[in-house]
Amino acid sequence: MPAVALLPAVHFNDIAAHPPDPAAAAMQYRGFEGGLAAARSAQEALDVFYRWDAARREFLTWSSLTELHFQQDTANERYKADNDLLNELRPKITGLDVSLKRAFLTCELRGELEAALGSYVFRRWELDVTAFDPTVEADTVRESELCDEYVELVAGATFEFEGERLNLSTIGKYKEHPDRSLREAASRATWQFFDEHAPVLDRIFSDLVDVRARIAAKLGFTTFTPLGYRRMLRTDYDADDVARYRRDIVRYIVPLATAIAREQANALGADPLMYWDEAVFGQEPSPRPPASFATFMERARGVFEGIGGNVGTFASLMIDGELVDLQSREAKASGGFCTSFPTYGLPYIFANFNGTTHDVNVLLHEMGHAYQGYESRGMPVSEYLWPTYEACEVHSMSMEFFGWPQLDRFFGADAERYRRQHLSASILFLPYGAAIDDFQHFVYEHPEAGAAQRNAYWKELEATYLPWRHYGGISHLENGGVWQAQRHVYLLPFYYIDYTLAMCCALQFWSRSIDDYDGALKAYVDLCRQGGSMPFQALVHSAGLRSPFETDVLKDVAERAAAFLAQTR
Ligand code: ZN
Repeated sequence: MPAVALLPAVHFNDIAAHPPDPAAAAMQYRGFEGGLAAARSAQEALDVFYRWDAARREFLTWSSLTELHFQQDTANERYKADNDLLNELRPKITGLDVSLKRAFLTCELRGELEAALGSYVFRRWELDVTAFDPTVEADTVRESELCDEYVELVAGATFEFEGERLNLSTIGKYKEHPDRSLREAASRATWQFFDEHAPVLDRIFSDLVDVRARIAAKLGFTTFTPLGYRRMLRTDYDADDVARYRRDIVRYIVPLATAIAREQANALGADPLMYWDEAVFGQEPSPRPPASFATFMERARGVFEGIGGNVGTFASLMIDGELVDLQSREAKASGGFCTSFPTYGLPYIFANFNGTTHDVNVLLHEMGHAYQGYESRGMPVSEYLWPTYEACEVHSMSMEFFGWPQLDRFFGADAERYRRQHLSASILFLPYGAAIDDFQHFVYEHPEAGAAQRNAYWKELEATYLPWRHYGGISHLENGGVWQAQRHVYLLPFYYIDYTLAMCCALQFWSRSIDDYDGALKAYVDLCRQGGSMPFQALVHSAGLRSPFETDVLKDVAERAAAFLAQTR
């Protein structure tokens, strides 16, 4: 396969991109379709493919830059206008892409094209074309509106707390607060908001379930579940595999998580451990990175250099090229993510530091995504630049663990405490992630269920997956409504188990890195270089890891984690 010619750039200021002109794009795509129909040889068809792929990369670069600019300064009128233009153009470009994908799928030269490009991209296109049809356009718009309604409702939550005006993300800093009564008060205030808005939250969710069922029916599916799996681009496992995996979490991880929660309760002198204690692992305050940003970044360079391979050189390229935007400021959007500019082969990291351990997690995590994006930048097919979500998160979560030996640079004598906390939180996350997934399967298999029935099912799930939970009479939580704060449940159906699948793989890298750091790092680097050229399980196997769907993987992961926690107690 020919290597992709990338534009030269070393600094964020070098990145430039222009919006497509819709009429010109339509004409260009007609040219591609005509060229493919007229192709008499695989080479002629491939030429069409590469011209189309170059156009897709240009669009991706422009859309990444547009979204990034908007998030960097939501008050900038020009950025906002560009972002509106993107929202308008994207469905048009998607429509053109889907039509061309159909043409490639039915092309007489398909066999030869699969030999040249790999068959995986054809499987991806098969999902894309069955998950979209012009007949569901209005329903899809309705679905987006409902998602926006949820986002706006939740973003509008404000709290007068301890003399400060806080929102749902900033009140989150009290989760780790050493003062237990403040943690409890912050928790009660947070859930009071959800309790007050329960009727509208229930209504939005019921409408979402209905519209998704309608879309699925129009596309010929019996329920939304198989369509949800297609939207997540899952080609190599199904809902039965995921159900078995969740049962393994209950069998092997829940007992360990329960033991961790019990130990947390002992360390805190809290009996029982309450919901507002769950993010705190001892009497001492959480470990803290250096307060000065300049010092933090200097240490960060040392951490990435210390990780080995070419990770340090890559991190310097990102930092020196100002391809990172890490500090919070007014009008900057919240959250953290990694994006990329495929015509230049450069990634970009966006985050909002808050002075806690979160900053260390976020930088390592996003640098993992960025590193993979950079290492696979020469992939000749756009679909192969990034893998599906569960595989993407393997790169990011594993980078957090490869950073472990370097963390003294951030936390000094508290580094070991941080490592225990990081591992404990990773284990505790798995049952929660599985419960969220189990819940969504119930919901889409029973679209007729009302709010009360859904919440009752969630309560059953808590007894199975999160048996240590005590909500202390917070009514919204006692009623089974905690899932309403998990935005994925509303916005991205079935995208949540992905984090747990990735964690299962990242913990395997963690375990290997303790036994053979260099070998584990080499396998990690090789995995990153594969980009998205294979489906999830094939990628996992290529790195010498076991698929989370295999028997006893979680058993081994749990045993190793338990041994580490016992030994460092
Ligand atoms: Zn991530």
